[in-house]
Amino acid sequence: MKADLVIRNARVVSHVGEFHGGVAVSDGRVAAIGADAALPAGTREIDADGRALLPGVIDPHCHLGVNYPYDEDMRDQTAAAASGGITTVLLYIRNLEASYLPFYEDRRAVGEENVHVDFGFHFGIQREEHIHEIPRIVEATGVRSFKLYFGYEHGNPVGIVPANDGWVYATMRAAAAISGGIVSVHCENTGIAVWLKQELIATGRQDLGAYTESRPAFCEVETVQRMIFLAEQTGCPLYVLHTTAAGAPPLAALARARGVDVTVETCPHYLTRSCYDEDLDMRAKISPPLRDRTEVEGLWEAIFSDQIGTIGSDHVPFFPKEGKDLWKEKPGAVSFPWELPLMITEGVQRRGLPLSKLVEMNSLGPAKRFGLHPRKGELRPGADADMVLVDLETEREVVHEGKGTCIYEGMKLKGWPVLTVARGRVVFEDGAVDPEAAGAGRCVTRPSEVPA
Ligand SMILES: [Zn+2]
Repeated sequence: MKADLVIRNARVVSHVGEFHGGVAVSDGRVAAIGADAALPAGTREIDADGRALLPGVIDPHCHLGVNYPYDEDMRDQTAAAASGGITTVLLYIRNLEASYLPFYEDRRAVGEENVHVDFGFHFGIQREEHIHEIPRIVEATGVRSFKLYFGYEHGNPVGIVPANDGWVYATMRAAAAISGGIVSVHCENTGIAVWLKQELIATGRQDLGAYTESRPAFCEVETVQRMIFLAEQTGCPLYVLHTTAAGAPPLAALARARGVDVTVETCPHYLTRSCYDEDLDMRAKISPPLRDRTEVEGLWEAIFSDQIGTIGSDHVPFFPKEGKDLWKEKPGAVSFPWELPLMITEGVQRRGLPLSKLVEMNSLGPAKRFGLHPRKGELRPGADADMVLVDLETEREVVHEGKGTCIYEGMKLKGWPVLTVARGRVVFEDGAVDPEAAGAGRCVTRPSEVPA
């Protein structure tokens, strides 16, 4: 019997290694993987011409529908994701109502009408009621991942309700009681950051470095340490988001060695850009901030020491930034289309990072951490046919069109996605996203996915 789609003559890369051959797809799933001669014929056949075929990127960290309408973001931003080889996006999403249940139903339905790739949710704890609702949320929505925010003062311009240690403790205690339950924390010491911010504002500085200096790396390391301690006390798995400080991953590694289940995420911007880069100004404000080159290189060392579990984009399309007041500017940038080229250019090409290691952080790591494995994260028979074909030789400058702030414009990157397959469907090829694919993706956080 013919497969729906067969990709041959590829350098097939997994988290453990690579071989020459391809993948056959039927009904949206991997039907076979192996040497070209061992694959069945396909209704559609693609010659990869020796290019690298990777499992689709699972971006565990993005924010959609924050400034622009949710339905619109789910449509055009997941198209941008598809163009970057991302086949699943997990949204950190917040709801200020007392219950998450109606919110989930709406966001899931509107998402499924619009998305080009699969998506799922982590829920932000924004009220005490949310903590009490956790068992019910898990049962009714399948969402088992909850986020708490430090580093944001009350009345912050993003509208985030900050956590306290009581909220963290209670959320961890509830999540620890759930199979697959996990808590993410934005780690920055709020009190120190608020104090230093006042000092820096008084200097009149408006440069990007002033924002960074108002919340130094030790603010992050301190809170990471405290969250690890609470995770250890409660037995709750901990996800340390968007790590900027080179001092944080070794702490997590030590904790793991004594049995604490903690995963460290970092983002392409913290691995490629510094707050002192001359082409950047206050519009490159990101939360937590870009750091100096010493921290950047320290994070790469952490990657090469296996201390980083996942790469997240923290992609957030805000309205155009004003560039008027550093302290009032909203923090955040977009990066879906360039995440993979950035990691290939700076990691694989420049620093000799094995592609298999990139696959581990981009696909397997997030899939395992958030309960999507073995359905996702690895190309094996029965798994969702999510893949990206990458041309490692193509060199191109970053050009940004569309929403949000891009902090990579003009950078020359080498290694770009040329074809993206999501659930067996070609959603990106010849430089264009298939507009017909809007609505083809599915929500992966649903009650039926929760193990009994
Ligand atoms: Zn974020």
